Amino acid sequence: HAKAAGRNTHAIFGSHMDELLSNRRALEADLRLALQTHSQLETFYQPVYAADTGALSSLEALARWKHPTLGYVSPDQFIPLAEESGLIHEISALVLEDACRMLAEVPGIHIAVNASALELASPGYALRVLGILARWQVQPNRLEIELTESAMAPEKSELETTISTLRSAGVRFAIDDFGTGYSTFSRIQRIEVDRIKIDKSFIGEMHQGASRAVVSAMISMAKAKGLLVTAEGVETDEQRSALQDFGCDHLQGFLLSKPLPRSTAITLAAGDQKVSGIRA
Ligand code: C2E
Ligand code: MG
Ligand code: MG
Ligand code: MG
Repeated sequence: HAKAAGRNTHAIFGSHMDELLSNRRALEADLRLALQTHSQLETFYQPVYAADTGALSSLEALARWKHPTLGYVSPDQFIPLAEESGLIHEISALVLEDACRMLAEVPGIHIAVNASALELASPGYALRVLGILARWQVQPNRLEIELTESAMAPEKSELETTISTLRSAGVRFAIDDFGTGYSTFSRIQRIEVDRIKIDKSFIGEMHQGASRAVVSAMISMAKAKGLLVTAEGVETDEQRSALQDFGCDHLQGFLLSKPLPRSTAITLAAGDQKVSGIRA
């Protein structure tokens, strides 16, 4: 069925589609090469702050790919490509390794990493994560995994097994991009998580009364379920103060800090005052 649709599309769009497909293939080949050479992939860390005190709460690890000729390629572009080609497992392993090394280097901090439902359902995922934590001698409760739903969502049961294995060991879980496509309230009825992260598209629309009401309702419902709430994509003071009023636990966004290179994030997390100005 999908193949037939692809052929029709191809017939309609002709050479434009050819070009798109070959671009994708070229990008995939470059990503494969980047993973082999270990030079173009990096992990950045975006600080997350307590909404009430403004204290640094945790860091979110975000993959960065600096392509030799294209420059920085957005994760929104290369992560889906990596998922389709299976390279996502290697990328995640690199990010997780970097995050655990950071956890070992800076005692007391917490770090979140991203993983798609597809990754979590892959055999051995839970054991790989626990293995890396053990190797770095890091307490599992200092790691949080942000689950992003994807169109390639696997069987629910595999996902649940992974989550319950890791949660029993102390690893925390969040539902990322909450409120969009696949991450809805029906999802948190069935999957055990510790936190929701409200998608930045809702935060960006908070100047509209209706959207502000939706955000407020999401926070109330999450609180009623005993879940922590992070708002992502906080860009204005107005958003911040409304989120504080609604009882949102944690804030993340350009207003507070952009994702930082590893060394800057370490300096910040270690509490060096020289990095003032980053904290809002
Ligand atoms: P995400 O996990 O929801 O991460 C938040 C994204 O929002 C990041 O984009 C971050 O740079 C961006 N962001 C933070 N604050 C603001 C703000 O105030 N305004 C706006 N407009 N954007 C903000 P980024 O780094 O481009 O990553 C995009 C997505 O790619 C992530 O969304 C995540 O789903 C995925 N991703 C990134 N790294 C990894 C990874 O290592 N593994 C997996 N599986 N996915 C990853
Ligand atoms: Mg995330
Ligand atoms: Mg998100
Ligand atoms: Mg996302």
